[in-house]
Amino acid sequence: MGHLISLVVPVYNEEAIILDNLAAILSAAGDDWYELELIAVDDGSRDRSAMEIAKAAAMDARIRFISFTRNFGKEAAIHAGLADAKGEAVIVLDGDLQHPPELIPQMAEYWRKGLSVVEAVKIDRGNETIRDGLFAHAFYALFHRFADLDLKGHSDFKLLDRVVVDTYLAFPERQRFFRGLISWARYPSAQIPFSVPERAGGTTQWSKLKLLRYAINNITSFSSLPLKLVSLLGMVTLAFGGVIGILSLIRKFEGKAIDGFTTVNLLVIVIGGAILISLGIIGHYIARLYDEVKGRPAYLIKPSKKNET
Ligand code: UDP
Ligand code: MG
Repeated sequence: MGHLISLVVPVYNEEAIILDNLAAILSAAGDDWYELELIAVDDGSRDRSAMEIAKAAAMDARIRFISFTRNFGKEAAIHAGLADAKGEAVIVLDGDLQHPPELIPQMAEYWRKGLSVVEAVKIDRGNETIRDGLFAHAFYALFHRFADLDLKGHSDFKLLDRVVVDTYLAFPERQRFFRGLISWARYPSAQIPFSVPERAGGTTQWSKLKLLRYAINNITSFSSLPLKLVSLLGMVTLAFGGVIGILSLIRKFEGKAIDGFTTVNLLVIVIGGAILISLGIIGHYIARLYDEVKGRPAYLIKPSKKNET
């Protein structure tokens, strides 16, 4: 005994399963040489999740919870959970049992052997549709190329030593990509493979749009390559325009009538397109700068109801 390990569970609209799942997580997590605490972070659920978590907390003293004022996203929930955790090691896992809690004793064992990070890595992607699989694949391929980090199979199911947690919390960044940042930090780590079980009930709260936004934000937070591509695009367009310009000049000096309409059309389309794309990419980075400069908090915690004294 003596060692405290914290479990951090982000929760968004999981009223149907969360009460049972929190108990299931704790009982599978074992406790032969460590004690456990569980921090459930209610990410502004619009259903009865907060009530269900409160019920779980009333039944098990190891459970406590944080509620956001609104949905700030899973990244913010993880951040808040890490900030609240007291353990010498912290394990982040989903509340839908898709991150099998049976792996926790094994993760703790690796930590005891001295590793700072223990990552559970997916060996398959569960019963995912082909379209979702392709989307994930494209994201990981792009991320690998742009950010030089191979995150294929990585999940948010990780154990972090206290040193890593404190380092993570000290980053000034607000919009974070947990998986990416931990992998980027390259602390001594071990990997445990697992296959993703079915969701224990309820439905995923990630819409296609939310996922796409998440993907774009994560890539641009790790790589300025898209920004550099803008200048490349500019140069290519310039070269293309130059060639067409020279060709039409030659034709003019040769005295041939120029059928310039096509050329002009082409130039307008190519240059216009290039400018718009470039502005879009630059705009995206400016938006990110703007968000970070504002320095607004990544999440806000709902004040707990004061008990009458
Ligand atoms: N989640 C969250 N905030 C959100 C969306 C999801 O805290 O805005 C939680 C959710 O309750 C679950 C975990 O993040 O515990 C993973 O979500 P989900 O199972 O929907 O995603 P997937 O398994 O498809 O990655
Ligand atoms: Mg899930």
